[in-house]
Amino acid sequence: MTRLNKGLYFPTHVAAALLALAAIFVLAARADRPYAPSRDYHLQNVRVALRFDLDQRKVIGDVTHTLSVLHDGLKHLDFDCADMTISSARVNGKDAPFELRENKLLVNLAQPAKVGEKFEVQIRYEGKPTAGLYFILPDKDNPNQAKEVWTQGEAEDTHHYIPIYDYPNDRTATEMVLTVPGDWLTVSNGKLLGVQDAPGGMKTWTWRQSLPISTYLISFVAGEYKEKKDTWHNLPVTYNVPRGMEDTLEATFSHTKQMLDFFSERFGVAYPWDQYAQTAVDDFVASGMENVSATTLTTRDMVHADLASERAEAADGLLSHELTHQWFGDLVTCKDWTNTWLNEGFATFGATLWEEHKYGVDAAAYRYWRDQNTWMVSRNLFTVPILERNINDSVEYVGNVYEKAGWVMHMLREQLGDEAFFRALKHYLEANRLQNVVTADLVKAVEESTGTNVDQFFEQWIYGAGAPRFSVKSAYDAAAKKVSLDVKQTQKVEGRVGLFHVPVNVAITTASGEQVFPIQVSKADEAFTFSVDGPPLLVLFDKGDTILKSLDFEKPPEEWIRQLQTAQDVPDRADAAVALGSVKDNDAAVAALGEAAQRDRFWGVRNEALRALGRLNSPAARKQVLAALSNEQPWVRQVAVEQMGLFQHDEEAAKRLQSVARDDKAYSVRGIALQSLGQLKEPGTAALLEKVLRAPSPHNVLQVSTLRAMGALDDPSLDPTLLEWSAAGKPDFLRGVAIGALGRADRKNHDITARLIEYLHDSSFDIRFAAIFALGRRGDPTAIEPLEALLKSGQLSLSMPHSLEDLIRELKAAATPPAAKDLSKDLNVADTSAGNQAVLERLDRLERALMEMNERLRKIESALPAGKSD
Ligand SMILES: [Zn+2]
Repeated sequence: MTRLNKGLYFPTHVAAALLALAAIFVLAARADRPYAPSRDYHLQNVRVALRFDLDQRKVIGDVTHTLSVLHDGLKHLDFDCADMTISSARVNGKDAPFELRENKLLVNLAQPAKVGEKFEVQIRYEGKPTAGLYFILPDKDNPNQAKEVWTQGEAEDTHHYIPIYDYPNDRTATEMVLTVPGDWLTVSNGKLLGVQDAPGGMKTWTWRQSLPISTYLISFVAGEYKEKKDTWHNLPVTYNVPRGMEDTLEATFSHTKQMLDFFSERFGVAYPWDQYAQTAVDDFVASGMENVSATTLTTRDMVHADLASERAEAADGLLSHELTHQWFGDLVTCKDWTNTWLNEGFATFGATLWEEHKYGVDAAAYRYWRDQNTWMVSRNLFTVPILERNINDSVEYVGNVYEKAGWVMHMLREQLGDEAFFRALKHYLEANRLQNVVTADLVKAVEESTGTNVDQFFEQWIYGAGAPRFSVKSAYDAAAKKVSLDVKQTQKVEGRVGLFHVPVNVAITTASGEQVFPIQVSKADEAFTFSVDGPPLLVLFDKGDTILKSLDFEKPPEEWIRQLQTAQDVPDRADAAVALGSVKDNDAAVAALGEAAQRDRFWGVRNEALRALGRLNSPAARKQVLAALSNEQPWVRQVAVEQMGLFQHDEEAAKRLQSVARDDKAYSVRGIALQSLGQLKEPGTAALLEKVLRAPSPHNVLQVSTLRAMGALDDPSLDPTLLEWSAAGKPDFLRGVAIGALGRADRKNHDITARLIEYLHDSSFDIRFAAIFALGRRGDPTAIEPLEALLKSGQLSLSMPHSLEDLIRELKAAATPPAAKDLSKDLNVADTSAGNQAVLERLDRLERALMEMNERLRKIESALPAGKSD
């Protein structure tokens, strides 16, 4: 699954980092069974026929399970089952007694069963699913909404619309028979066997998935969708979007067939399923879900044709993640949620493989560098292993099984070398094809195929927690012509965090060129010496950044400048840019950053140089940022314009921003210019924003920026506009942004707080979610009570939303002087002094923590009476 990017308000400073993350989280909801349950039977075939009562938001189902019993003496066959009433159960064609007990349907057998005995169990039922199946329908506020019914099975939600065995550790063939209005399209797993007319202008679509799959990967999408058909090696390939979104098809999906070619070749195993369908649905609960042969995506991530040229990599990150899952996750599936990293780590890794192939080694290296920096400051993640049984607390879980696990596979590739690594992957896929796996299966596959023992590697990176925090000092002995390095591992060794044993390349450049020295680091404090032919001009520890780590390496500014100018690898140049962003009053540093911002051969380094200049925020640094506005790539200009939002009392910057907001050919750059103007609180900005808000733009991209800018501007004259755009009738994602902006508007205005409290009960999840954070930002103590009520309303025994509790605690503290601590200060860029790096970094972390809350909040929210599926 790919996590969800909600329509939250984010300050422009962190917007880029968030965009890079591409998605926030909804993962493994209710993944509260870390060990796979023991099984009574093996499912062989699930044939399910579904009809829908749209007015009632009801599903009417008839499922037939073919199964064989796994142990003697079994008296009843149990199926996971929620939100439904059962009208009949039949075993081998005869009526059978049944009972519903604690989310289980027990179907009694006439006599105790024997090992290997086969049964056909037919169950007729109907239900109003509160999870697993979602109805997206027009209403008075959204009369043009396409009618859509879609499912989301992961983690254990399929049993909300089919009584079924609902845990990954079994696999079954499936048949999905859907009877829907004649003008609807349906998409499900496997092969479309046929479409037949049904009474009342309906049509019945029959899909068959013949290779066995885990039940969380069963899915369908049905509704008013438009389809684009293609083929790949004689397999049907389809792209589907809700009617009205056809303008996104080409820009979003055009690389799909190249990806199918690439992954089939790279993984050494041909794409294994009967079709590949990608369907974007409205209000999806994740960014993407790798249902077997039929990926579901969110319409939020579709790329508008008019915006395609503004994105460095279209929607490839999401598409390649889900496509990788078709092998890693679907063909070979984790046996239990504890081993989810075998799904998600590989999918994250696969997306970066595609990025490397399509967009170059630099793009992939920059991705790893950013993921590394984000992960290393996530304190919650640091002390928890990737393989963690206690996964109820999903925050600790998510960032490790995606980014860190992706990094770990990246390191394994580096350490084994491409040939051996991809041979091992191929062997792992072939040996475990259509099986469910645990981590040991991967370890075994690597060793069997390459002879390399990776026990220690897995011990420290998968079963152990953390990563090395290196502190390195270098010295040169001119007489002996030796460079010495003092290398310390400074991570706190405790719990599952140990000392790391890692191979590191030390690269030393002298006047005669670069020499690379491979070393093994394993101790808390070690010294290494290297013979060189003259004084070192540049020393790199872990050249190219191949180890997940943090590095504190003291160097003089001249050496950082040389590193920025001459290092071959993007991470080393990006590190240098970051370091130079803290070097004050140094003209050469500013000049080097300015040069890099305009001319580094990779755009990511240009962006890092711009951010460093933004942090320096001196008159000279500002000049360099303005000069970089001429960059060709919109995603570099975006960062330049974003920095300008920090340049207070700077007439020239304000003027340039106004002209960019008006004239830049990229909508996204214009949008960020508006946000920077909002942050600078330039006179006349309110009127400009009102004007832009009412002019059309593709996918409302300027409306989003304008509403955000209004939040940053914090001008009470705009409150009525924000209230207007927060109200029902406007598109949900714009309402969400307006609500985010209201969170920052006049905090003394209790009417705004009251309106936000109303939104806690809106029918849309997005709106309720936005309202929670907006209330948190306001620091208005009147929000405490409704937030506490919300906290109490959920199934909190399952997953306590610590962060929501923190939020309430902060609000209470803020309401109690003199020890008052205003949370909204932490969250409000406008309140931070320009260029205050510590505050900005704290903001980064806070925003990330907020994102990580998403998954938990969704759980609470899904238990609220106002839920969408009610
Ligand atoms: Zn995934």
